[in-house]
Amino acid sequence: MPTSEPAAGGDGEAMRVCTACGQEKPIEAFFSPYLDKRRRKWKGACKVCSAKGQATRPKEPSKYELARERRLRDYPGSKVCTDCGEEKPLADFGQPSRRDKAGGRIGLVFSPRCLACQSKATMARQARKVEGAA
Ligand SMILES: [Zn+2]
Ligand SMILES: [Zn+2]
Repeated sequence: MPTSEPAAGGDGEAMRVCTACGQEKPIEAFFSPYLDKRRRKWKGACKVCSAKGQATRPKEPSKYELARERRLRDYPGSKVCTDCGEEKPLADFGQPSRRDKAGGRIGLVFSPRCLACQSKATMARQARKVEGAA
């Protein structure tokens, strides 16, 4: 017979819920400042999450995301990927290369495949390399 109710009562603070992973853990799983009532520096994340450094840091856009946003502004429009056949914004095809056209005009050349397909191809290549080496 399943019981969803956690063991209530007892000494109260035996378990704490980690604010980062949401798991209920014994206080030993948290850094000792929690136990030090004078300092009270406990931040609410368990040792595992604190070690990961993701507990309190707000998520910042990665370099990759910032670059993509810049490309969205710079290169409006979309394109169909030759690999997955999906129409995606030009920003999802990576940084275009500039090619000189006749008459002194500069043309932008985007990859025929979207970034997702490019990285898929790269990963497949690496996987093959690992298999070959083993
Ligand atoms: Zn945690
Ligand atoms: Zn694709």
